[in-house]
Amino acid sequence: MSTSFDPADLRTDLFIDGAWRKATGSATFPVENPATHEIIAHVADGSPADAELAIQAAGRAQAEWGKSTPRERADILRRAFDLVLANADRLAAIMTAEMGKPLAEAKGEVAYGAEFLRWFSEEAVRIGGDSTTSVDRSTRILITQEPVGPCVLVTPWNFPLAMGARKIAPAVAAGCTMVFKPAELTPLTSLALADIFRQAGLPDGVLNVVPTTKASTVVGPWMSSGIARKVSFTGSTEVGKLLLRQASDNVMRSSMELGGNAPFIVLADADIEKAVDGALKAKMRNMGEACTAANRFFVHRSVVEEFSEKLAKKLSELKVGDGAASGNDVGPLIEQKGLDKVESLVADAVAKGARILTGGNRPDGPGYFYNPTVLVDVPKDALLMSTEIFGPVAAITAFDSEDEVIKLANDTDWGLVGYVFTEAMDKALRFSTELEVGMVGVNTGLVSNPTAPFGGVKQSGLGREGGKTGIEEFLETKYTAIAV
Ligand code: NAD
Repeated sequence: MSTSFDPADLRTDLFIDGAWRKATGSATFPVENPATHEIIAHVADGSPADAELAIQAAGRAQAEWGKSTPRERADILRRAFDLVLANADRLAAIMTAEMGKPLAEAKGEVAYGAEFLRWFSEEAVRIGGDSTTSVDRSTRILITQEPVGPCVLVTPWNFPLAMGARKIAPAVAAGCTMVFKPAELTPLTSLALADIFRQAGLPDGVLNVVPTTKASTVVGPWMSSGIARKVSFTGSTEVGKLLLRQASDNVMRSSMELGGNAPFIVLADADIEKAVDGALKAKMRNMGEACTAANRFFVHRSVVEEFSEKLAKKLSELKVGDGAASGNDVGPLIEQKGLDKVESLVADAVAKGARILTGGNRPDGPGYFYNPTVLVDVPKDALLMSTEIFGPVAAITAFDSEDEVIKLANDTDWGLVGYVFTEAMDKALRFSTELEVGMVGVNTGLVSNPTAPFGGVKQSGLGREGGKTGIEEFLETKYTAIAV
């Protein structure tokens, strides 16, 4: 199996009611490779008219799909899982081409994304219920779980396969139909995934995919349609808030996986090798373009020099270049806007007193590359302390006491994930309790796991994806009172 794809095999049309179709007026938009600026494909650019066809199809399909058997849904998900694995190299190559992450990471994401399909194929047949009796024994209470109904799914560009799979799989398992708008920067992976669901036997109209360059003109009508009963969004807090406002008009169930500002805390007693290894994962996965990326490093003053120098050495050894070429560890950022943001955040921190240990610049040549960077003595008022960097920049600040660092870590509107490195169990538990986040990594820089409930508190989101709770987001609880 080769780690490439045949451009002729790419799906580039809209997927509506089980069929591939052109956008209204055959409008298309280009998808660029961020490492080379090459145009990989032209993808159908969905319009409000296409959005209407999609939501109507999802609405029509819901009644029958909602009555499908759990076994049928499980089997479809299991076949989709097998197909994703059978196509792993091709999917990884498509992802690297449109998003930039190195092939090894893209393959990791395929395995991670596929696991949501397997996990929810197993959950589909375990949707339970409950029954009890009222306290006066006059009523038998029967509690059942039913599909929420048609769902609006919207995903970002940074994990094109996993973010789609993490929503589609529980929706399929629960018996919901979907209208899905993938990010315009990375539609090809999502369309390839839709094709896999078609091959796996998902009935027509259950999954409808509409890429577009005009997100609000497609998603807006879905939100106001009265047909969609739920929205599941992953992306920025800003757009999440907008969709929550729209959801309120029709009182739609809402799941929001939004931005983060993760603290990465190294206590005085930490194993520094472990902490550096964890920092590499938490910072460099996806070139730092992850909601879970360590954004603020707080390192105890007694170990800050050792940690910073070791991290800087590791980062300076990473090879920056086209993710499709073997041997490259760090791919390009997604677009010029992202690169400009990283450059300006570093310039701001340096102007305010931060020192650069490594990086701090971009390599020559095409592509939106930025060199892995370590900044130390980063002051509290540097913009990157309160902004998602979304790039390969580790911003390190020293702290003196545990009380101080807990306060610093929680001093943000976000609360997705926090990392803490310590060899002491009592300290680990204290931080796990006191950090205002939805997820805590203790001595690990990686919390994403299909078996775990992924999600944040504060302005990082509502609801959880994955784990046992993932399917509940797509189910309604109904209770029937039976007089006895
Ligand atoms: P974004 O919010 O700009 O876009 C996300 C999606 O929303 C895209 O599909 C986009 O087209 C769509 N969108 C944009 N404007 C819209 C509108 N007015 N109406 C409807 N849809 C609209 O985010 P992004 O730049 O694609 O992704 C990066 C962000 O995603 C970061 O903040 C990151 O932290 C977050 N993220 C969160 C998680 C998580 O699980 N919490 C995972 C990955 C990324």
